[in-house]
Amino acid sequence: MAATLIDGKALAARLRQQLTTEVEELRQRGVVPGLAVVLVGDDPASRVYVSMKEKACAQVGIFSAEHRLPAETSQQQLLELIGQLNQDRRIDGILVQLPLPGHIDENAIIAAIDPAKDVDGFHPVSVGRLAIGQPGFRSCTPFGVMKMLEDIGCDLNGKEVVVVGRSNIVGKPVALMCLAQNATVTLCHSRTRDLAAHVGRADVVIAAVGRPEMIQGDWIKPGAVVIDVGINRLADGRLVGDVAFEAAAARASAITPVPGGVGPMTITMLLYNTVESARQRP
Ligand code: NDP
Repeated sequence: MAATLIDGKALAARLRQQLTTEVEELRQRGVVPGLAVVLVGDDPASRVYVSMKEKACAQVGIFSAEHRLPAETSQQQLLELIGQLNQDRRIDGILVQLPLPGHIDENAIIAAIDPAKDVDGFHPVSVGRLAIGQPGFRSCTPFGVMKMLEDIGCDLNGKEVVVVGRSNIVGKPVALMCLAQNATVTLCHSRTRDLAAHVGRADVVIAAVGRPEMIQGDWIKPGAVVIDVGINRLADGRLVGDVAFEAAAARASAITPVPGGVGPMTITMLLYNTVESARQRP
């Protein structure tokens, strides 16, 4: 393997260490950062994510307030809870674990969160601020990708960045973040013609598709940086990314592994946003 491995686990651990120190400093000034975690229903994957987030909060000293609601909770009841959390001075961030049960309009719930507490960065105000280059909360997975690029000293100025996948939670925001750093950005999706040709031009490839190893190693330009956001479980139980890792690593200058790449960064950036919000507490 020629490429340097971009160790998301190690970077996440370093960032969490820094956050622990910052939380301690805030506590000494009488501010305990607080995250409200809202889970509706009992989707097993959501339960796992929520407990991982709560555990991560506890590790760095963030107070987390858990709100587990039954699946039959009405949209109105959930909106009332969000309204209370918006007013609660102990709460700096509100995280509503998605997906919500089908009878609840996710957009209406996200829109009800005070943008000052939108640590997931999904509120239209946060997305709008990102689009027009204003400060605001950045959504956690793309923000984690940017932190990784920064950490390896990858200056995006003038670089060709190819993002594969245009979802609202990864592809689109990461493309906007790269644009804000003066990259020339191409955003590819399922209707893109000749994906290989686009990827082959990229100095930086960011894959967020959700298809195991679909990005072939020989598409990668020699020396490119490859960030693989995809997490796919194969029939044999193995976890793989969206990039054919071994072949891509033979050509890339740096590449993220799956698991242990982007994955550990997502929750870390949630903690980061919560601490940032506590810092700005009115
Ligand atoms: P979505 O399913 O929402 O989006 C997938 C995107 O890939 C769509 O834009 C789709 O295009 C595009 N796509 C699908 N097939 C092709 C194709 N053949 N060629 C080019 N583009 C294609 O996925 P997410 O963005 O939510 O997630 C992507 C991956 O990242 C998943 O594996 C997910 O598990 C992982 N993930 C990891 C996180 C982490 O913490 N590390 C966090 C979030 C996601 P179109 O829009 O045209 O349909």
